Amino acid sequence: MAYVSRRILLAAFAAVIAAPVAGDGAEPRKLAVASTSIIADFVRNVGGQRIDVKALVGANSDAHVYSPTPGDAKEIAGAAIVFVNGLGLEGWLPRLVGASGSKAPLIAVTKGITPRRMQDEQHPGRSVTDPHAWQSIADAKVYVTNIRDKLVAIDPAGKAAYETNAQAYLAKLDELDKEVRSAIASIPTHRRKVITTHDAFGYFGAAYGMSFIAPEGVSTDSEPSAKDVARIIRQIKQQAIPAVFLENVSDPRLIEQIARETGTAIGGKLYSDALSEPAGPASTYIDMMRHNVRELAKALGGV
Ligand SMILES: [Zn+2]
Repeated sequence: MAYVSRRILLAAFAAVIAAPVAGDGAEPRKLAVASTSIIADFVRNVGGQRIDVKALVGANSDAHVYSPTPGDAKEIAGAAIVFVNGLGLEGWLPRLVGASGSKAPLIAVTKGITPRRMQDEQHPGRSVTDPHAWQSIADAKVYVTNIRDKLVAIDPAGKAAYETNAQAYLAKLDELDKEVRSAIASIPTHRRKVITTHDAFGYFGAAYGMSFIAPEGVSTDSEPSAKDVARIIRQIKQQAIPAVFLENVSDPRLIEQIARETGTAIGGKLYSDALSEPAGPASTYIDMMRHNVRELAKALGGV
């Protein structure tokens, strides 16, 4: 009896120490660094047991104005591959990669997506590229297939695993897309318009038929002027916009001021550019999209 239980214990111990280094038993896991928590979640879903994933910009943090740390350069130096959004999101990244001395491939996961252009709030008459493509699930699927193909390129032995993982995750995204569509369909058409702090939901709005208006542009790198805020307040009144929303990566004070001055309800908090902490309501991309659409439907009179 004692002999048997000791053998079981030893076997369990061996499994525990083997798991973190061996992946599927063959060789050490490769490290993939992702610029944001949302991209890291995609890489985790495709990489499965073969890939360790680190996000540079963590939960509830703003990727537009991030200040890299010396630890970030070390992570990149040890990475087999670096995944970034591109489309102008991570202006701080090229210097960081240069400083790290990394030779790892640097992959923009938005390759193949049709970028949205928006009017530059700071420079009227000019347009800027909107980087928030992950807010459309069809575009998120492009992220996932790009990640799959690039993981296969750096680790051909994992091809079957990456393809199986990606296929399963893409199927979940198809389900999620249906859920989002039916939740938005439950909101009366004339109420499908909201205010957020910055223009992070252009792709979401275009994909699912909603209007998002924001005092800050597609980046958070400059404060809106008094004129921008006055314009939004006018719009809320003229268009009878039913709700304003906070964002997890933005200072809430601006939206709170707008809510006060217009008497509009704060609908809740949307997760725009980053996931929540693990115990929060949006710790994965799928949970984030579910949370956001639930908050929208609740505030705007849907189900
Ligand atoms: Zn943003």
